[in-house]
Amino acid sequence: MRIGLASSIVAAVLVIAGGPLATSACAQTPSSASAVETTFQAILANPKVIKTLEDIKADDDTALAEQKRITEIPAPPYKETVRAEYYLKRFQELGLKDASIDTEGNVIGLRKGSGGGRPKLVVSAHLDTVFPEGTDVSVKEKDGVILAPGIGDDSRGLAALLSLIKSINANEIATVGDVMFVGTVGEEELGNLRGVKALFRDHADIDGFISIDGLGITRVVNQATGSHRYEMIFKGPGGHSFQEFGLPSAIHAMGRAIAKISDLQTPSEPKTTFTVGTVSGGTSVNAIAGDARMAVDMRSNSTEELLKLEARLLDLVKEAVVEENARWNFRQDHGRDQADRRPACRDRRDGFTDCSGHAAGGVGYHPWPARDLCRLEHRFQSGDVA
Ligand SMILES: [Zn+2]
Repeated sequence: MRIGLASSIVAAVLVIAGGPLATSACAQTPSSASAVETTFQAILANPKVIKTLEDIKADDDTALAEQKRITEIPAPPYKETVRAEYYLKRFQELGLKDASIDTEGNVIGLRKGSGGGRPKLVVSAHLDTVFPEGTDVSVKEKDGVILAPGIGDDSRGLAALLSLIKSINANEIATVGDVMFVGTVGEEELGNLRGVKALFRDHADIDGFISIDGLGITRVVNQATGSHRYEMIFKGPGGHSFQEFGLPSAIHAMGRAIAKISDLQTPSEPKTTFTVGTVSGGTSVNAIAGDARMAVDMRSNSTEELLKLEARLLDLVKEAVVEENARWNFRQDHGRDQADRRPACRDRRDGFTDCSGHAAGGVGYHPWPARDLCRLEHRFQSGDVA
């Protein structure tokens, strides 16, 4: 399993960065699948490539030792610096002399090709773990199983990346495109992909992106379920439940909104979902609620459906506020929408995916395309209730 992961990634890199034929085949649609396969077979038959793949297999013990070493350098969210510095040192030792750490904390090492910088392929693994500061990250072995927090996700990817750099450098594999090796920060939940976002912000010329994440060699994830999340905040005047009776309530407005949301209809195909996940608000049983908030999650396998759902749901929330104000004859405030809308899904099959599939297939694995989750979080001010 460990060997296969690194091998398939090197194969993918070689297909994508290997030559003019390879790059054009990979940039095209599924109809060029046979062109991808032909190119891939030619590259796999290249003696240098054969030797590189053998070297990666032979490097497995070293890679495992590296994996353990990386695991024992804590890298909780937002505190990846020590691991990043170690990783930078390893990049430099393996021949990426100009490697550096960018402003976000990503470790970047560029391996230049002969094509003047294009195409540019990123091959990355993430430095951070989900585990909080203070977690015991020492590696233990029990009944032949190696255990430690984050040893698979993503110390394995980090180690595989180093093994790949070592092997393609040792075999003097020359590429047309540039390969940008990156140890990214902020991949796990709290980080909200801050490292990868910064990478794309700072490098507009990236043509392809491969992330080696965890141990699974039988899956190539090439699609994402979009998710838009809101925290919706309702505000009202508050007041005593008896003395100030007649004022609008933030909780009542939110209740109206939830009732409307509950009745939303969404398609089962493409799967599109919503839920009000949490609610809070108010101060006591005998007070008109001056504030209320709820967290709403919307998901879809189609960007279009997700945006439709989002627009409808936001309208319903505004309607609920208007109705609560109208119920008590108060001035109506239509609310302010502070959402930051960005596309969430990338649901397409392309030559790039075909390359990944052939790469894994070429070393004996048969992955299936899968869908992962990408998230966007929004805050939304529903507007004051009176
Ligand atoms: Zn991961």
